Amino acid sequence: MSRVKKLIRQEILDLTAYPVPSAEGMLKLDAMENPYMWPAVAREAWADLLKDVPINRYPDAGAQQLKDALKAEMGVNDNYDILLGNGSDEIIQMLAMAVAKPGATILAPEPGFVMYKMIATFCGLNYVGVPLTDEFELDEAAMLEAINEHEPELIFLAQPNNPTGNLWDENIVTNVIEASQGLVILDEAYTAFTDADHLFLLEKYDHVLVMRTLSKVGLAGLRLGLLIGSKQWLSELEKIRMPYNINSLTQASALFALEHFDMLIMQTEQLRIDRVVLMKDLCTIQGLQVFPSEANFVLVRTPDGMARHWFEGLKEKGILIKCLDGGHLLLKNCLRITVGTTEQNDKLYQALKVISDSGSIQ
Ligand SMILES: *Cc1c(COP(=O)(O)O)cnc(C)c1O
Repeated sequence: MSRVKKLIRQEILDLTAYPVPSAEGMLKLDAMENPYMWPAVAREAWADLLKDVPINRYPDAGAQQLKDALKAEMGVNDNYDILLGNGSDEIIQMLAMAVAKPGATILAPEPGFVMYKMIATFCGLNYVGVPLTDEFELDEAAMLEAINEHEPELIFLAQPNNPTGNLWDENIVTNVIEASQGLVILDEAYTAFTDADHLFLLEKYDHVLVMRTLSKVGLAGLRLGLLIGSKQWLSELEKIRMPYNINSLTQASALFALEHFDMLIMQTEQLRIDRVVLMKDLCTIQGLQVFPSEANFVLVRTPDGMARHWFEGLKEKGILIKCLDGGHLLLKNCLRITVGTTEQNDKLYQALKVISDSGSIQ
């Protein structure tokens, strides 16, 4: 046996690395990115600011100024603290590490965000995925049963959910929280695209934390995620955080972005408008089922057996989306399309129309 095989844990050997397809020269509608850049004046002011950032020094480890700006922008009151992560992915990892006693369990509904399961594996935790219903709603009975059986230390609930795009019934969410003896994380990665807001749950339950990210609002490249909750939880998690996980350029850039947040809000408002237009357009495509969305992407179901075909057809035309067929059974024949600019959405729609028409002639 090679030393690699001998030393690396079996569950890591069994993994395949998170696939990030090359998108060079493609219209990228696969990763929930904001398609808009900042206006040129803002980019210049930002560049001016960055040139004075002392990158010979370690970053501000506490990043208090950034935390205060985030709290103000997101309406977080002083009863609560913020933990910063290098993307919310890193926060998921910190949470997993914090509870990783032998036999500890992470539970999440499926299909859901794949990093919950991956990070459970990285950190040596058990993972329990509970299938959603056919309508992508939380299966209340199955969730309560799984919680009872596995007593998970951590439960992740993404509201709205990725990759389905919908919000779950608030009553079921509440019942899941109340049934849990562990910690429940409300993952609000798509908060910029929905009116739903779960900060109020912090007041009601002291075993709930709310996680957000600046990635989907338009700062995916900065890698900045945050966890909001009581000091009691966050002061423990803070011990696990790498002291310099938020680099100086990210801190300076995020602060700048928060000072000009209306610029980002304008973009996300536009994306919300264009989501509706895109969904209406997609509904006109023969045989295509379009699911409700509260996020900056739309989940669709093609006629049986066509998802991969349509996905490849788009790719040939230089458009990259996400093919979910072949993953979770509930996502059979499904594609996920990120909302782009008005023009990009139209290009996607026109291309898909051609592909679906030619498919039905064959
Ligand atoms: C994108 C996403 C995240 C992670 O985003 P980061 O870029 O790591 O901050 C977390 N949860 C859900 C549900 C997501 O879709």
